[in-house]
Amino acid sequence: MAATMGPALSLDALHAEIRAHRGCGFAICEAATQLVPGEGARDADVLLIGEAPGASEDLEGRPFVGRSGRLLDELLGEAGLARADVFITNVVKARPPGNRDPTAAEVAHHRPWLERQLELIRPRVIIPVGRHALAHFAPGRKVTEVHGAPLEQDGRRLVPWLHPAAALRSRSLREAVVADARALPAILASP
Ligand code: URA
Repeated sequence: MAATMGPALSLDALHAEIRAHRGCGFAICEAATQLVPGEGARDADVLLIGEAPGASEDLEGRPFVGRSGRLLDELLGEAGLARADVFITNVVKARPPGNRDPTAAEVAHHRPWLERQLELIRPRVIIPVGRHALAHFAPGRKVTEVHGAPLEQDGRRLVPWLHPAAALRSRSLREAVVADARALPAILASP
């Protein structure tokens, strides 16, 4: 079974569908404890997109709640935002077994859900968090080269951020992720 979805689905109905999704045969969907649709303000100006739920997210059913998530909360604070002000989700909604990268087929399987979230929430700015999320929106761009600055792609305003997990491993990257976050208010204030 594909990740099917009626075009008229509301955000609540979409998220209920994602949580109930089973039986498609994709390892990523079958192996997960639960699927993680995402959460936050349904009229958010800013929508952050990570790669995939990890172990903590798989258990709690919420995005970015592990160590990376705690750093992401701090980064939002640096940007003058709270978690409740933004919407947070992932390219794929289920934890890949063993935390491997999702396959292209798995990303394609979950893509209609993400596209519908974007249609419903209509954020002014999309923050792809890390290289995998950026690859989804701007293939061929390197997050290490374009992070922190606005990037127009296919009519969407992207502001790529380095992934907080990378910053947990390196002091210099930590300074870079904080700089990305501090740059966001000026970007949001510009037309
Ligand atoms: N948690 C998530 O929800 N997404 C990531 O990309 C990493 C951690």
